[in-house]
Amino acid sequence: MPFDYAAFARPAARALPTYNAGLSSVLVHERYGVQHVARLASNENPWGASPAVTRALAAASTRVGDYPDAQASALRQQLAQDLGIDAQQLCFGNGSEDLIKCLCEVFLSPGDTVLTQKPTFGLHQIYPEMMGAQVQLLDLIPDLQMDVHAWCDALARVPKLAFLPNPSNPVGCMFDDAAMQRIVAATSEQTLLVVDEAYVEYARCTPGYPDTLALLQQRRGPWMVLRTFSKAWGLAGLRVGYGIAGDAVLTGWLDKVRTPFNVNSLAQAAALAAWQDTAHMQQCVEKTVALREALRAQLLALAAPGQPLAGLRIAPSATNFLFLDLGRPSATVAEALLRQGVIVKPWKEAGYTHCLRVSIGTEADNTRLVQALVQAMQTVEDAT
Ligand SMILES: *Cc1c(COP(=O)(O)O)cnc(C)c1O
Repeated sequence: MPFDYAAFARPAARALPTYNAGLSSVLVHERYGVQHVARLASNENPWGASPAVTRALAAASTRVGDYPDAQASALRQQLAQDLGIDAQQLCFGNGSEDLIKCLCEVFLSPGDTVLTQKPTFGLHQIYPEMMGAQVQLLDLIPDLQMDVHAWCDALARVPKLAFLPNPSNPVGCMFDDAAMQRIVAATSEQTLLVVDEAYVEYARCTPGYPDTLALLQQRRGPWMVLRTFSKAWGLAGLRVGYGIAGDAVLTGWLDKVRTPFNVNSLAQAAALAAWQDTAHMQQCVEKTVALREALRAQLLALAAPGQPLAGLRIAPSATNFLFLDLGRPSATVAEALLRQGVIVKPWKEAGYTHCLRVSIGTEADNTRLVQALVQAMQTVEDAT
C-alpha cells in the first residue's frame, strides 16, 4: 500500500487546489515547436527592469556569501521616505504573495470568514482556505465591473479579513475614489482590510483611481496596502513585494511568521535600483497603456457583427492586461493560441470559463495575439 498522504494531511490542506502558475516559454517552445513565444499570461513588463538593475545585481553578486539584511533596511528607508510613511509601517515579502500568506497565517483560524472578489486572484482564496477559513466571493455586475453595493453589504457582516484587489486581477476593472470611500466607510474596525494594489502604477493613468493609502490613513481599524515589484517594475523573477500597514504593530505580527530572510540580497539590491529609476518604469507604463488602448480598439473592431470575433466583450481595464469574454469555452481557444506560440490565461473559475486574460505585450506580440486569436476562433468554430 502506498503511504496515505491524504489521511496524513491537515483537512484544510487536503482540500487545496494547486496554484495555476502557467506555462514556461521553454516548455511552449519545445512542446509546440514554435520559433517565437509571446508571453501574454503573467502580466509581466515586456521591456523588463531598468538597466540600473543589471548593474546593481552585478555589484551585489560579490556578496552572495552573506545573509541578506533581514530588515531590507536600505530599501525600507528609501520607500518610507518617498511614500511619506514611517519605515516601520513597511513589510517586505518574497513577492507580495508571501505577504498574503503571512497575513493568513497570523490571523486566520478554521471557520473565520474572508471576503474577496470573483473572478479571483487565486491566492486571495487559496491561502485563507489553507488556514481553514471560509472564503466569500463577490461576483461582478453584468458590465464586468466590481459591485460596490455587494462589497458594502458583505463588509457590514464583519468578515475577519477582506482582500480587495484594486484594480482587479483578472478583470482589470477598478473601484474609483467615490466607491473606495464608501468601502472604507463600510468596513468595521474589527475587519482587517487588505487592498491589493499590484497594478497601482498602471491604474494611476486612469482618471478617478483612488489614493487608497490616503483614505486608509484616516481609518481606525487595521489595514494594509499591498504592492509589488513584479509588474510595472519588471522584477517578477526576483520576487519582491511590500505591504504598507496602518501601524508598526501589524508588521511586527507578520515578522513572527515570515521566514527571516524572505527577501534575498539580490532582490533587495534590484528593487532599490529599480525604484530609483522611476523614469524607466513610467515610460514602460505609458507605452503599455497606449498599447492596451490600441489593442482594445483593434479587438472591438473585430468584434462587430459579421467580423471574425463577433460577440467578443472586453472588460474595462486600468491595468496591463485585458479580460475577454469570448462567448465560448476559453480553454480550447487558449490551446489553439499555444499552438501558434501565444501564451494567455484561460479562466477556469465557475461562471467565467468563457473568459481569457491577455497581458499587454510589445506591439509585435499584441499583433501576433490578434492574428492568432482570429485564427483560433475560426479553428474552434470549425471543430464544433
Ligand atoms: C501579480 C499579483 C500579485 C503578486 O505578485 P508577486 O509577484 O507575488 O509580488 C499580487 N496580487 C495580485 C492581484 C497580482 O496580480
